[in-house]
Amino acid sequence: MQGAERLIAKSEEQLKETFRKLDEISYFNQVKVIKAFHKNRVALRHFSGSTGYGYGDEGRDTLNQVFADVFGAESALVSPNIVSGTHALTVGLFGLLRAGDTLFSISGNPYDTLQDVIAGKDTGSLADFGISFEKADLKDGAFDYHAIENGLRNPKVKVVFIQRSRGYEWRDALSQEKISEACAFVRKCGFQGCIFVDNCYGEFVETSEPTQNGADVAVGSLIKNAGGGIAPTGGYIVGRQKYVEKIAGRLTAPSIGAEVGSYSAGYQYFYQGLFLAPHTVNQALKGSFLIGACLDQIGYKTSPSLENMPYDITRAIQFPSDTKLIAFIQSVQEASPIDSFVQLQPWDMPGYEDRVIMAAGCFVQGASIELSADAPVKEPYIAYFQGGLTYEHCKYALTKIIEKL
Ligand SMILES: *Cc1c(COP(=O)(O)O)cnc(C)c1O
Repeated sequence: MQGAERLIAKSEEQLKETFRKLDEISYFNQVKVIKAFHKNRVALRHFSGSTGYGYGDEGRDTLNQVFADVFGAESALVSPNIVSGTHALTVGLFGLLRAGDTLFSISGNPYDTLQDVIAGKDTGSLADFGISFEKADLKDGAFDYHAIENGLRNPKVKVVFIQRSRGYEWRDALSQEKISEACAFVRKCGFQGCIFVDNCYGEFVETSEPTQNGADVAVGSLIKNAGGGIAPTGGYIVGRQKYVEKIAGRLTAPSIGAEVGSYSAGYQYFYQGLFLAPHTVNQALKGSFLIGACLDQIGYKTSPSLENMPYDITRAIQFPSDTKLIAFIQSVQEASPIDSFVQLQPWDMPGYEDRVIMAAGCFVQGASIELSADAPVKEPYIAYFQGGLTYEHCKYALTKIIEKL
């Protein structure tokens, strides 16, 4: 056997038990999704597109209900008109917050692309509309209950914000157990507003979702986990009906909410993507563990730890230099089905503070449920790796990565 193959075989042996547990989780979630399809009597006619205002668009309305059921929520807004995760989060926050209110993040700084949404100057940010932002940083990767209690003394806090995934940070994603505890604590402090979770990268990684563990609203992108690698675009917002209605008024207009919105291309890929999502997430997670185990064996630090179960689909890998970091990202691009011939370079991407290098040789542009990797080019040179529509593809990519490193 070649060096890479031996390394992979050894890692697979080491990961057997983890893979078995991951299969149990994806089976549980697959059943959950199928049951939501059955309950809502999904039929071929729901795939048909609509035009114009889209009044009475059954495909859209049923898709909303299927999502609501899968996430154990009262209501959902699922739309191809939501252009990305950042847009879904923005619509959600603007729908819920009013001038004079405070947004309080209890998981530290929100994801990079939300910085301008929260605090941009004269960009139409929350700050421009008189909405302030406060945060309680995580302490050693866990909620800082003392800081949370203090923050909640401010009566202007109307939305408590939690980011489930690690984002661009060297910390574990937050487990449903931790999120559940935090939600209970926030309520114990007397908070009566909305607990809002950025659910990006977390869907179907565990057997329950934040909306089943005390959160009022959860938001995500359909070109990540919940689209199963099939949805061509879009985002979702799930949660309590009264909140989802407010957000719908912001997504479209206050008088019309979720009653309008057409999509002439039809909804098949959104239904099919959700159907495939538990399995796709399982494949991405297995790929992430395999890459983590192999790189660990050749001396790289990776996170999350290989001993515990994961709480999101991302894996962080630390490199000793910018050249190794860039070489890693380039090898992921070279292993991709699309644009494999592209020689990647770091660039100033809109919404991000540092120069970023991104491998995304995807069928759906930029879809990070597909095999992808990205990194801000700054010390300590950490790459964030995620996705993989099939485990086999992750394994193939790994041979390229090991070769290049
Ligand atoms: C990806 C991501 C976002 C933003 O989603 P985009 O689709 O890239 O705009 C926000 N939060 C987290 C945690 C994410 O992973």
